Amino acid sequence: MSKIAIIGAGYAGMSAAWDLRNAGHDVTLYEADDHVGGLASGFREPSWNWSVEKFYHHWFASDAAMLGLMDDLGLREKVLFPRPYTVMYHKERFYPLDSVLKAILFPGLGWGVDKIRFGLVGLFLRLTTSWQELEKYSVDEWMRKWVGERVYKLMWEPLVVGKFGEKYAKQVNMAWMWARLHARTTRLGTFEGGFQAFSDQFAQKLIEHGVTIRLGTPVTRVERDSASGLLTLATPSGVEQADQILITLSPAIAAKMVPSLPASYLQGLLNLKSMGAVVLVLALKEKLSREGYYWYNIPKSAGFPFLAVVEHTNFVPPEHFGGDHIVYVGDYLEPTHEHFSMSAEELLAKFAPHLKKFNPNFEPGWVKKAWVFRTAYAQPVPLVNHSRNIPALKTPIDGLFLASMSQVYPWDRGTNFAVEIGRRVAREMLEP
Ligand SMILES: Cc1cc2nc3c(=O)[nH]c(=O)nc-3n(C[C@H](O)[C@H](O)[C@H](O)COP(=O)(O)OP(=O)(O)OC[C@H]3O[C@@H](n4cnc5c(N)ncnc54)[C@H](O)[C@@H]3O)c2cc1C
Repeated sequence: MSKIAIIGAGYAGMSAAWDLRNAGHDVTLYEADDHVGGLASGFREPSWNWSVEKFYHHWFASDAAMLGLMDDLGLREKVLFPRPYTVMYHKERFYPLDSVLKAILFPGLGWGVDKIRFGLVGLFLRLTTSWQELEKYSVDEWMRKWVGERVYKLMWEPLVVGKFGEKYAKQVNMAWMWARLHARTTRLGTFEGGFQAFSDQFAQKLIEHGVTIRLGTPVTRVERDSASGLLTLATPSGVEQADQILITLSPAIAAKMVPSLPASYLQGLLNLKSMGAVVLVLALKEKLSREGYYWYNIPKSAGFPFLAVVEHTNFVPPEHFGGDHIVYVGDYLEPTHEHFSMSAEELLAKFAPHLKKFNPNFEPGWVKKAWVFRTAYAQPVPLVNHSRNIPALKTPIDGLFLASMSQVYPWDRGTNFAVEIGRRVAREMLEP
């Protein structure tokens, strides 16, 4: 029986812990926060009987790794697939965009050759599996060539600029777009009680199976001691030893945590790019979207100071939140952006005039409470030929492994792929 330390109790760390413990090892999860779930964690007001994710979250019907884990945990019957509406902004109005048919009917595309190119390219990306060919091109050059300038500017450029900002929008590779279109469905899922309820039930199952979970325990350093040859990790309660260690944090944090990694591997970690996210969560007295829309995609060029408005209670009914209407106002930004240092009140004051575009009756008096959540590591940026840049899960330090969102490529980050990479790294750790 090996002693295994896993740093981070997000979905990657917890999934790896499940398989490693079931293979008979002595597993401890070290979590800096006071709860499990990582980026997918949630919070709850006393009057709510469901939690709200700090960052909007849903599953896709195609999330096979996630649903497979649910089966293994015996929790599959608690996964729900309501049918919310997604819309896109075009010329001062919002249009439904949550099915192939609605995308084809989108008026911005007209009725000529553009619509046919949009449909054919969408079909090709849905069917092809050759992402290695696609990663040689940027989304910008590939899409302009195949769907044409007008369709690209209208349908795809807003998504790329929104997610990656002007800085990276022209460099993101086409395999990223392929992964989104290839692996996602319009059916969206959640867990009974919210994602935090799932995380807590998962943690409970881990504990019942013998995994130790140490909350409020940030790991600061990992190294293989050259004199004793032992693999160690430093925690607030002292230095501890393990036979194998798995880090599930961002590559940049991992690089700081393990400065003794060989220079080339370390540099590979530091070269990886990512975007942060800032999300304002509002509990409103009234429903924002009179049409009942869940997800509003907003092009940056339309002049809104945010990328998406997501009315959670048009996905999960407000009755679960004591009648509050929960709205996220979110954006992907570089951590140097001013929104990273603004309070919830300051962000609300900046965003409120724009929320009238979603409902002309909206007024700040509707806001019962506001919260802001931020993370510097929200979205890895895959550049052209990115597969060459993905660090191996097994690091050059014997017994030390790394499994982060940046390594799920060609897939886009998501809880499904956190589960997939967690289980994949567990298999590698179990190899003799
Ligand atoms: C804005 C936003 C929206 C998203 N929307 C969706 C969605 O709709 N659907 C979906 O499936 N996914 C979504 N995701 C992605 C999803 O949340 C992530 O892919 C997934 O949660 C990553 O899991 P992980 O275990 O790899 O990392 P994390 O969840 O980041 O887990 C890492 C854990 O390590 C802990 N930690 C950090 N430092 C230390 C330390 N020094 N010592 C010990 N512990 C430490 C952290 O507290 C955290 O719990 C979204 C993410 C964001 C940011």
